[in-house]
Amino acid sequence: MSTMIPLSHPAPKLPPERVAKVAGYGMRSSSDGYLFRPTSVEDLRYLLQLAKETGRQIVLRGAGRSYGDANIGSECIIVDITRMNRVLSWNPHTGIIDCEAGVTVEGLWRTTIEDGYWPPVVSGTMFPTMAGALGMNIHGKNSFKVGTLGDQALELEVLFPTGELRVLTPADDLFYQVISSAGLLGIITRVKLKMKEVHSGNLKVLAVSCESWDEQFEVFEKFEHNSDYLVSWIDCFGKGKELGRGQIHVAWYQDEPYAFPPSLKPESQDLPDTILGAFPKSVVWRFLKLLNNRPGMRFVNWAKHHASMLLGNGKEIEQSLVGFSFLLDYVPNWRNAYLPGGFIQYQTFVPRAKAKEVFTKQLQLQQEAKLESFLGVLKLHKPDKFIFSHAVDGYSLAMDFKVTKKNWKRIQELCHKMNDVVLEAGGRFYFAKDSTLRKSDVEGYLGEETLAKFRALKTELDPDTLLTSNLAKRLGLF
Ligand SMILES: Cc1cc2nc3c(=O)[nH]c(=O)nc-3n(C[C@H](O)[C@H](O)[C@H](O)COP(=O)(O)OP(=O)(O)OC[C@H]3O[C@@H](n4cnc5c(N)ncnc54)[C@H](O)[C@@H]3O)c2cc1C
Repeated sequence: MSTMIPLSHPAPKLPPERVAKVAGYGMRSSSDGYLFRPTSVEDLRYLLQLAKETGRQIVLRGAGRSYGDANIGSECIIVDITRMNRVLSWNPHTGIIDCEAGVTVEGLWRTTIEDGYWPPVVSGTMFPTMAGALGMNIHGKNSFKVGTLGDQALELEVLFPTGELRVLTPADDLFYQVISSAGLLGIITRVKLKMKEVHSGNLKVLAVSCESWDEQFEVFEKFEHNSDYLVSWIDCFGKGKELGRGQIHVAWYQDEPYAFPPSLKPESQDLPDTILGAFPKSVVWRFLKLLNNRPGMRFVNWAKHHASMLLGNGKEIEQSLVGFSFLLDYVPNWRNAYLPGGFIQYQTFVPRAKAKEVFTKQLQLQQEAKLESFLGVLKLHKPDKFIFSHAVDGYSLAMDFKVTKKNWKRIQELCHKMNDVVLEAGGRFYFAKDSTLRKSDVEGYLGEETLAKFRALKTELDPDTLLTSNLAKRLGLF
């Protein structure tokens, strides 16, 4: 049943009880707007009309897992897609799933795993919706092998602000423009995906410790043609010869000699309720908060590196698909450890040949500024054809910076210096992980031609400029 208020004449007013504050996942940016949770395409049409009649703009929002300001819009109508979450059909013979766009990564795997299928691309958390995941075109730890989620989508249904509802496939140019466009061209309402067939709910995982960037890249290159997933944790406090030290995890799908392996039961994938069998997960962030400062994190990173060298190096283990893929979901509310100021995530994508030079410079810059990232994650990628693509034939380094009232200006300055290094190397950025880009940075990596193409599409598909976000405004995207 629709939850929307009927349109009335004279023009309706937005009900004050709809006012809500929403934030990006990093909690540094938040804004007030009028929050609606539609359940159907008709509701979405209604909201487009409501926006026109009230002179408001709309920000589209999935599960709110983008770190910065792409999913918030000051004074906007916030269209939260999470209640459009029905799986419309699932065919275990073809591996094709058709679902409303509010279905989450978790919703996908819980529907299909028992039949031996896993989402082809997943983020480091299972909570994003398909709408948000395609809005940003997410990548996983298998990015070097299968590309981004958009590369795996078969079909999208999109409601454009003009009221036109269209089905797009990879044969349509618009498919490559709506995916990755950060919710600024149209509302994704339904998605068809081909799931990945798996014969076990477990992966074989090899840990390899590295003392430097050279070792990191050597190991990635060694396994890139001979593995299913590759990811590395980087200790951003490592200095001098130890710059780039950390631990790589290489993983492979497994075969199990049963028709219905028990590891494919959804319940065997559930994450444990406690950590180390003792600590209730719900309180762990409070302990993290005690260490969530520069000396604490220097120590944690140092200890993790040395423990990995001594105990983990070269060890092979079996790990569930969920356990391996969604490490950060082990600790609920871990982001609260960054309160009160929140944090930003900063991820840059650099062509192979320049990766060592750029990441070295980025770590040196943060060490000089005494603003080291508390966590670094290295991944390997391949390029794609989507309009706001972040992908390159090369590596990405993602970093988390704790924000305080005192350090915010310095963090922005640091990011701008790091951006310059990335741009000079022909690198790219990712709107899902951005809080500090400037308009000139975006012009630098997307280029005039792409931006002009985007603006022409925006005029054609959204002539009243109904769709926006604080990110779009900050970066002057249209
Ligand atoms: C712990 C953690 C780990 C992560 N790991 C990864 C990772 O490994 N790889 C990766 O790529 N990302 C990763 N992310 C980022 C996350 O996957 C993306 O930000 C994703 O877009 C979040 O989806 P969401 O449903 O929360 O969307 P939101 O963040 O709410 O929105 C994302 C974008 O989609 C737009 N949008 C929302 N609904 C629609 C719609 N119906 N139609 C069109 N556009 C829409 C929004 O306007 C916004 O621009 C991670 C995030 C977290 C918090």
